[in-house]
Amino acid sequence: MDQPKLAIAALGGTVSMQARNAEEGVFPTISGETLLTSAPQIMTLARVTVETLGLLPSASLDFEFLLSVLSWANFQIKQGAVGVVITQGTDTLEETATFFDHLWDHDEPLVLTGAMRSAAQTGAEGPANLLDACRVALAENSRRRGVQVVMNGQIHQASVVRKTDSLALQAFSSPIFGPAGMLVEETVRYLRQPAQRRVLPLPKKTTQKIALLQATLSADTLLLENILELGYDGLVISAFGAGHLSKSWADIVEKIAERIPVIIATRTGSGSTAQSSYGFMGSEMDLIRKGASMAGFLCPRKARILLWLLMGCQRQAELARYLKEDIRFQN
Ligand code: GLU
Repeated sequence: MDQPKLAIAALGGTVSMQARNAEEGVFPTISGETLLTSAPQIMTLARVTVETLGLLPSASLDFEFLLSVLSWANFQIKQGAVGVVITQGTDTLEETATFFDHLWDHDEPLVLTGAMRSAAQTGAEGPANLLDACRVALAENSRRRGVQVVMNGQIHQASVVRKTDSLALQAFSSPIFGPAGMLVEETVRYLRQPAQRRVLPLPKKTTQKIALLQATLSADTLLLENILELGYDGLVISAFGAGHLSKSWADIVEKIAERIPVIIATRTGSGSTAQSSYGFMGSEMDLIRKGASMAGFLCPRKARILLWLLMGCQRQAELARYLKEDIRFQN
């Protein structure tokens, strides 16, 4: 029987990094082709197409580049790939996963992976993660699950995964929801049924600017006051607790929300914003009254990506529905 076709792309990140000399630190230099040779077993599982689409630290990826990666991945599926694997830096993996997930209009899986240890480090886990990611991308039970992140033996759903540790091997988790599945020996096992998905059209516009500000104790209002003047088209605030701000921030939010969409997300790292519990000035009830939308379980970064994509395809009027009904979390 013909082997399935699998497409792999390298974008850079620690998984592609090594030191050019002892003092300089590591840089992304390792191509997708070379990465593949570090996990030769992959070649026994599939007919592999591999490309190096970038060699960037993931902090320097941007939405325009991700759209070109998406178009490459779409082409691979059209060419008969049963799944696509992308390797990249872990620093922004939770954001790229969300970005792709909103736009991935295929039953075939798109799997993102990376590594916390660079290629030359003792115990580098890049090859193992790549092999796991390929297994997930090839598995029949991965279909209709959208975009997933495979790291350290776990499979995480793009909509809820977060980088929750800066240096540990177990750097990714899905607070509240838990991993969607895991690799057990060589088998891909899921812990729940695929959730219903809704995909957005490709953005027609990419110039919209969405600011993300974090509320902090005794913060001044200088940046917030200037959001409109600076030409931002949308604002996400990483707010206290269940979606709370100081009174001074709340007053300014009211003026901003008259002109551009404002989303209030929680800065806690886990859990949902509230809707109808607190009534004080700056509470979620007050902010909703002032025109802001609550992010629910979406973390501030994922909320920013959703708003950018909605504005890109002129669907910002549907923001409330997207935030309320984001059922990609649910079974
Ligand atoms: N720890 C990050 C990584 O895993 C640093 C670099 C990056 O994100 O590109 O790749």
